Amino acid sequence: MPDTLTLNGGNDALNGNINRATAKSSSKKVPNPDTEAKESRNPGSPLTLPPGFTPEKYAEFISAVQLIVGKENVDLITDAAQLIHEHYTDPSKAHDMHNVVEKTYFVASAVLCPRDVKDIQDIMRLCNQFEMPVWPFSIGRNTGYGGAAPRLPGSIGLDLGKHMNKVLEVNVEGAFALVEPGVTFFDLHDYLVKNNLRDQLWVDVPDVGGGSIIGNAVERGVGYTPYGDHWMMHCGMEIVLPSGELIRTGMGALPDPSRPHSEGLRPDQVPGNRAWQLFNYGFGPYNDGIFSQSNLGIVTKMGIWLMPNPRGYQAYLITLPKDEDLSKALDIIRPLRLQMVLQNVPTLRHILLDAAYSGNKKSYTDKDEPLNDEELDSIAKKLKLGRWNFYGAVYGPEPVRNVLWSTIKQAFSTIEGAKFILPEETTEHPVLQTRSGTLQGIPSLDELAWVNWQPNGAHLFFSPIAKITGEDGMLQYSMTKKRCKEAGIDFIGTFTIGMREMHHIVCIVFDRYNKAKRDRAHWLIRTLIQDAAEHGWGEYRTHLALMDQIADTYCFNDNAQMKLNETIKNALDPKGILAPGKNGVWPSNYDKDAWRISAPDAF
Ligand code: ADP
Repeated sequence: MPDTLTLNGGNDALNGNINRATAKSSSKKVPNPDTEAKESRNPGSPLTLPPGFTPEKYAEFISAVQLIVGKENVDLITDAAQLIHEHYTDPSKAHDMHNVVEKTYFVASAVLCPRDVKDIQDIMRLCNQFEMPVWPFSIGRNTGYGGAAPRLPGSIGLDLGKHMNKVLEVNVEGAFALVEPGVTFFDLHDYLVKNNLRDQLWVDVPDVGGGSIIGNAVERGVGYTPYGDHWMMHCGMEIVLPSGELIRTGMGALPDPSRPHSEGLRPDQVPGNRAWQLFNYGFGPYNDGIFSQSNLGIVTKMGIWLMPNPRGYQAYLITLPKDEDLSKALDIIRPLRLQMVLQNVPTLRHILLDAAYSGNKKSYTDKDEPLNDEELDSIAKKLKLGRWNFYGAVYGPEPVRNVLWSTIKQAFSTIEGAKFILPEETTEHPVLQTRSGTLQGIPSLDELAWVNWQPNGAHLFFSPIAKITGEDGMLQYSMTKKRCKEAGIDFIGTFTIGMREMHHIVCIVFDRYNKAKRDRAHWLIRTLIQDAAEHGWGEYRTHLALMDQIADTYCFNDNAQMKLNETIKNALDPKGILAPGKNGVWPSNYDKDAWRISAPDAF
């Protein structure tokens, strides 16, 4: 193994996007992918070996892990030709389907499907023995953020959802569910419907419903009912630590002799405390936070609060004609949201997001460059929409809804040209029909459509947080729009309104088979992250390729928070096996600078 390693040294799996700087590797550090090992690849050995592994050591690990999970639950990735799953409905478990660097870069060497918690514990113990990096995921859709792919090439992917996919409990009295990693939003919704529980309880769902409830909540994803902040609404977790040890958080740490169970159960099989899904905090330090967007544990069970059926519901759309209406709208939205007149997580969508839902770019224009104001106005006219379109809902019995809706209408009527539309009154607004389902917890796949704006459409999300003010919103929007134009990419975005802030979600759509366009998208997001940081804005979540860059922007007091995260990481995972590099947190046995990914040179 060479002493000085180059991340991109002739490795055809990589491209110019990867940091070319050579990285000194001390004997203690785990090196970058080793081209020598790669070129002398034995038939049957993985496409990308984990760093520091010889084919022989890797084969030894695979033999040992097959004894744990069974051969049928080990899928070796030996050939780029295996990376063919490229659609949401048939997702890859080994690579990023929306790849912004070469698709063979962020790729697992094998995917394991543990059958239960004990398998996971045994796998973790084996990984510690071999110092094998392992990347857990629940379903692996994670669209726009890296899919199922690991941050560290060659890691073992841990597909938790294949076998561990049970709704363990739905409790009507307490309005919660306890689920395993493989339970999707569709699954839980279907469970409620099949068991005649939908009349009592709703599950909050994100834009598309095929993701895991656990995966989405731990990544702090959002939905659109009043229960839209999924992390806020989770309650109680069971976690396998990197050592293989099993913990339960909050009230789950307290044994409950009142719950019936027989002797001889493994700890993961023992029924949880009856307040586990009712009270988040338990006693002592509140641990759950360190297992969110983290590489400190594998979540094997999680509670999620369900929304009692509000006994009445009405979705609505408010269209706003002008670009600058964004400013006024946000200043109207803030007090309404704070007072909970806006009860749910509403969204203020740019016309092109709705246009892309209804057709690809070619269906509107032959132009490749970003559309100008005139063209956007003409699309809005054609679709009977505004430049901005606000989708919300009111919940509760009719008198309650009437008061809320008239207050909302009155506030928005101060914007000239605002129009108010209910889904029951129109057949012309397909997005409103979909949103009407989503905002009452009915999952769908409809919103996948906008990714086809470009041929072979893939996307990245740039998702900075902002104050809900006209000033901040306009500034963030203008900055983004200007950079999109420079990159030759249409601005497609939405403001998703949280309790006191908004997630500005910019959908950077590109042709995944066109390297030049991919590079533009990559340049754009890197530039936006930097621009945002210069304004004091940070992103809430990101793609694998950008984790280090964003982590670097959260640098108060000489990166004190990262130092804390690294201290915890090294204490809980001394061999650095669990998801090295996730969200920029690298264990001490990795040379984090050598693993950085930088912007493409030019476009
Ligand atoms: P989706 O729900 O969209 O399919 P994933 O299952 O891919 O999303 O999860 C997204 C990310 O969340 C993963 O890449 C991983 O980092 C993290 N994650 C998902 N499930 C777990 C889990 N059970 N334990 C720990 N981390 C998880």
